[in-house]
Amino acid sequence: MKKDLTILGSTGSIGVNALSIPTIEENFSMLAFVAGKDVNTLSRQCLKFKPKYAVISDTQMYGELKKNLFGTKIEVKAGYDEINEIASKSSDVVLSAISGSAGIEPTYQAINRTEKLAIANKESIVVAGSLLFDKKINKSTNIIPVDSEHNAIHKLLNYVNYKNLKTITLTASGGPFLNTSIKDLENVTLEDALKHPTWVMGKKITIDSAALINKGLELIEATYLFNMSHKDITILVHPQSLIHAMVSMHDGTTVSLMSKADMRIPISDAIFDSDNAPIFGNLKTSDIRNLTFYDLDNEKFPTINMAREAINDGVSSIITYNAASEVAVENFISKKISFLDIYKVIKKSLDHNKKIKQKVLKNNIEHILSLNQKAKDITLTIIDEAL
Ligand code: NDP
Repeated sequence: MKKDLTILGSTGSIGVNALSIPTIEENFSMLAFVAGKDVNTLSRQCLKFKPKYAVISDTQMYGELKKNLFGTKIEVKAGYDEINEIASKSSDVVLSAISGSAGIEPTYQAINRTEKLAIANKESIVVAGSLLFDKKINKSTNIIPVDSEHNAIHKLLNYVNYKNLKTITLTASGGPFLNTSIKDLENVTLEDALKHPTWVMGKKITIDSAALINKGLELIEATYLFNMSHKDITILVHPQSLIHAMVSMHDGTTVSLMSKADMRIPISDAIFDSDNAPIFGNLKTSDIRNLTFYDLDNEKFPTINMAREAINDGVSSIITYNAASEVAVENFISKKISFLDIYKVIKKSLDHNKKIKQKVLKNNIEHILSLNQKAKDITLTIIDEAL
């Protein structure tokens, strides 16, 4: 029997990849598609897949979406509140793939309403992990990571004895600046930073990857997902992005997972039942002849150590790491700050958060979101004062 599927962020890279999985229509009836403002892509997707609901965040696009979907039975909605409302409708599977902090509240609204929550929006786990993984709050929803590294670990943990687990390794391509000197990083442009060597992704995550912020977010994500100390998680640079993660066991063995750099593989693992999983081609021996690995250059990419520092400081610093990165990256994308300013802005925001001794006072979504917003506002002030 077909399962209901809701896609939060259907028009983005993850959403489009999900809808391009060959057997998606055979296995799912579409409940809702959600987008930010790309009314054309959303309309096209709705006309093809006929979800019950089409929701767009930008209320100015409501009229156009309604017009484009005239004559269909699709219910059209607009506005962020409607997105949260749709996310809280009962669905078998929800794919959380809105980019950035905008994805946190809808992802939270889906828990206890959906059987399976496939999370690509790592910001939800980073900022609201204390809620999503609290058994008193999330009583029934199975969370499965879509991020390729975390999905690889999730799979590997089915093959090995969890009790025997010692450490995990997340691989990182190293991004477009792997071989750029620190000196040359001073002059890199937005266009340089958008040239990711192995993955085609949305703008925010591509810049996050160039600055290794993404790997910092993934490190935090892994501590929540696998209930591990960050000290037991290593980041290893692997430019080919073919080995996605490794788990090392107390018995001296290490198991790694390899696949093509194709996001449809982890997306499928997260949303399909294993009996109906789609078929993808394996790597060929010629693809894996030249696998290389390097230690991370923490001087050139200080964001991983900043993430570790944030984890040591506690949840309010973790929230600050997310918020400050997001604002810094937005300002780099709009060309207000330079690439190296991104690092300085995150560091200053983390230092400020420590100085004011910000604490998480209540473990509820309203408070967590207000701290995220407060940290964003402070980061904006830091940027404005520096300019
Ligand atoms: P994209 O930028 O390609 O897409 C973002 C999606 O979110 C779009 O559908 C966009 O709509 C929607 N969106 C943005 N803002 C809002 C909003 N306020 N309300 C509702 N919808 C909104 O991002 P990606 O697909 O690359 O990434 C999505 C998430 O998945 C991120 O958290 C990222 O870190 C994570 N991820 C992505 C990977 C990838 O390969 N792309 C890999 C692993 C994780 P619109 O198009 O209308 O603007």
